[in-house]
Amino acid sequence: MALALNNDLPVGVVHSPERFRGTVNLLAFGGVHLVALAALFGPINLKLVGIAIVSFLIRKFGITAGYHRYLSHRTFKTSRLFQFVLAWIGCSAAQKGPLWWSSHHRVHHQESDGPRDLHSAVRDGFWWAHVGWVLDSRYDYTDYRVVPDLARFGELRWLNKNSLIPPILLAAFCLLLGGLPGLLWGFFVSTVVLWHTTFFINSACHLFGRRRFETRDTSRNSAILAILTLGEGWHNNHHYYPSSVAQGFYWWEIDVTLYVLRFLEKCGLVWDLRRPPDRVLALGKSRTAP
Ligand SMILES: [Zn+2]
Ligand SMILES: [Zn+2]
Repeated sequence: MALALNNDLPVGVVHSPERFRGTVNLLAFGGVHLVALAALFGPINLKLVGIAIVSFLIRKFGITAGYHRYLSHRTFKTSRLFQFVLAWIGCSAAQKGPLWWSSHHRVHHQESDGPRDLHSAVRDGFWWAHVGWVLDSRYDYTDYRVVPDLARFGELRWLNKNSLIPPILLAAFCLLLGGLPGLLWGFFVSTVVLWHTTFFINSACHLFGRRRFETRDTSRNSAILAILTLGEGWHNNHHYYPSSVAQGFYWWEIDVTLYVLRFLEKCGLVWDLRRPPDRVLALGKSRTAP
């Protein structure tokens, strides 16, 4: 457990992109890319592409609804069981543990583009914000003090420490489902696409796109990334009012995660979805036409 206080880095760690340290992480990350690339030279058919798309969509929802909107921002409520289900699905996207993800993300919001923000695209550059900080082993720690509301659940702490189990089980399931090509497409190809679409929110969505709201950070909205990430591309909206379950604030801002959560609300699996206040919607509407 890190000895850090809130958003302080652990003792001895100085946030500096120039001091990258993460050879093992880099080899694993590069290896997954190479295997995914190899899939493109093997058999390709509708079944394999279908497995990859389903694997992508379910796990992307685990990241957007589970890791981000629920665990990081608590924008809706659910049962302890479904909380674990969301965390497990998010964890299967191979983006480290739920408490690691949420703790660093909360600091990103508290310190956006400041010296304590580990992935500021404007300060440290596109590639550092995109993936450099994820691979740097100095930031593999989880600061449990940033997520005390989550750390009190033993099953979430267990998942955080054993974050490779869900992706490994998923890889095994894909192998059973479609043999080696099923593994390559259902796990490796879809994981690489999952990674980069998530990472683009930290990199591209702080560099390119429109700013509807004046925020103290550099967050921007991107319709293309919103489609690719099930709604996360409305990043300027999100930075302005992060406690809203919706990131697309208006009907023309496609936010698939929100639509699925509304469906789950009707099923009774989630409740108390937090909406942006009318004053925020009115302010945003006055600043941007559809
Ligand atoms: Zn956020
Ligand atoms: Zn951001």
